[in-house]
Amino acid sequence: MAKLQPASEQLDALVIGAGFAGLYQLHTLRDKLGLRVRVLEAGSGVGGTWYWNRYPGARCDSESYYYSFSFSDELQQQWGWNERYPEHGEIRRYLNFVAEKFDLRRDIRFDTRVTSAAFDDEANLWHVETEDGQRLSARFLITAVGCLSSANIPKIPGLESFRGEWYHTGRWPHEPVDFTGKRVGLIGTGSTGIQATPVIAEQAAHLTVFQRTANYSIPARNGPVPEEEQRAIKADYAAIRELGRKSQNGHPFLVAPESALDVTPEERLARYEAAWERGGLRFRAAFRDLLIDKAANDTASDFIRAKIRSIVKDPVTAEKLTPKDHPFATKRPPIDSNYFETFNRDNVSLVDIKASPIIEITPAGIRTQDAEYELDIIVFATGFDAMTGPLLSIDIRGQDGLTLRESWAAGPRTYLGLQVAGFPNMFTITGPGSPSVLTNMPVAIEQHVDWITRCIQDMRDQGLTRIEADPAAVERWVAHANDAANATLLPQAGSSWYLGANVPGKPRVFMPYAGGMANYAAICEQVTAKGYEGFILSAPKPVGQEAGQGAVVG
Ligand code: NAP
Repeated sequence: MAKLQPASEQLDALVIGAGFAGLYQLHTLRDKLGLRVRVLEAGSGVGGTWYWNRYPGARCDSESYYYSFSFSDELQQQWGWNERYPEHGEIRRYLNFVAEKFDLRRDIRFDTRVTSAAFDDEANLWHVETEDGQRLSARFLITAVGCLSSANIPKIPGLESFRGEWYHTGRWPHEPVDFTGKRVGLIGTGSTGIQATPVIAEQAAHLTVFQRTANYSIPARNGPVPEEEQRAIKADYAAIRELGRKSQNGHPFLVAPESALDVTPEERLARYEAAWERGGLRFRAAFRDLLIDKAANDTASDFIRAKIRSIVKDPVTAEKLTPKDHPFATKRPPIDSNYFETFNRDNVSLVDIKASPIIEITPAGIRTQDAEYELDIIVFATGFDAMTGPLLSIDIRGQDGLTLRESWAAGPRTYLGLQVAGFPNMFTITGPGSPSVLTNMPVAIEQHVDWITRCIQDMRDQGLTRIEADPAAVERWVAHANDAANATLLPQAGSSWYLGANVPGKPRVFMPYAGGMANYAAICEQVTAKGYEGFILSAPKPVGQEAGQGAVVG
């Protein structure tokens, strides 16, 4: 650790991360409440996950017109999206536009990685240190570190001996990687690998995809957004946003009210065909019970399996690409542009590494149990240490020196995904235990930021300076979140990152809240209305003076 310097700044709130969450949190606390706020960001620019994820084909799976902020009508009227699914560069341009419009950059320190944060009980302050030795103190510590930002690079023996180049998709270079004439190996077939495969295949001499688990994917049907459609969306924004907030997943469409089992086979097929043609994550909304009833889900899973077999010409490859070990959408479903079609190309091959696992990386390429593949470039599309990884990569210490790592040794435990018991005045935007990754992220982010802002405002109005989660409320919330997950099929995907199963040694806990975005937001509203039920609020005085009474804000 760098030598400590005196705290360079005393702040009201310190925010870690300058993605969607950090930018909006800075805006509300600084511009609405007038607080002294600083954002610390490891990257050299705004964007969060979109700052790092620049791999070929990287684009959002939510549609552009609603993968955006809703808090400013002026903003949503000014900005125009080019594509139905925005590409990573377009999202960065958007977030830079937001930073410019709201003059946010002056309070963001870039190239500044937070290494530790410790709660000082006596001073009722968080002390934060950065990699380059800066020291800052703040009353509130707000993590806006993203759910999918800690790259998961598998520890495959021999990587250091590889003579070629290798990249993780979540840490992609800023300059495009040239695949022309190269033999490329890509490991991983989640949303990322499925987006990257068709784009790399168009450039590379040969692409070998190393697949551990076959995945379902729905065509995205990406394309430009016509002017006329943009105008219609802008005219209808209030209703679109309202629908997004009322929905299960923060998307502005409702799930069909019928069961997949209540319609005739012909009607069901027609509905799936229409949803397939329309494309996108909306496919999940074709029937109400796809995620809660295995028999209903089987109809969707079978439909997609049949599509894969009809698209992929070589029956052996088609069979390898057909998912059999988990129900559709129990792992985050990817959407694609010509993913399965890409395996009909002569320069693309598929290796089933469940049947023949990777043994090592050699100077020349990848060696599986059965063969060695000579490669010039290896692309790891192997995902993230999701949700807890970005928080645990910082040495966070709460009361009595308790580390977050100790507190979460058996998996993350929070109240509402907003606070951890023993870590007063620390808020975790889209933390584990909140809907977060099961939703269209900007909706979940705005809801959390608005809740935190209101909470801090209420505390200030009441002369309160400390808020902490009641351990009993954490117990109840963890039990409720487990019940919510178990009421769905989601925990059935054994290798899902929702469960932490993709990272060896990580505790298996279903991390996001599966009870639905609208329902969750209503619970948070009730908590506020009941005087921050489940939180303990107080106004401790500095040492030497009488401690404040526990109090509750109304
Ligand atoms: P992921 O869904 O976790 O997929 C990682 C892939 O790598 C899986 O196929 C996994 O196999 C494989 N893998 C992991 N470790 C491996 C190992 N040691 N050996 C061989 N294979 C290994 O990660 P992702 O594709 O980056 O996506 C993560 C999430 O990011 C998505 O689910 C989504 O929420 C988000 N995302 C969003 C977008 C978007 O909106 N456009 C795009 C990309 C990603 P197993 O399945 O067997 O574990």
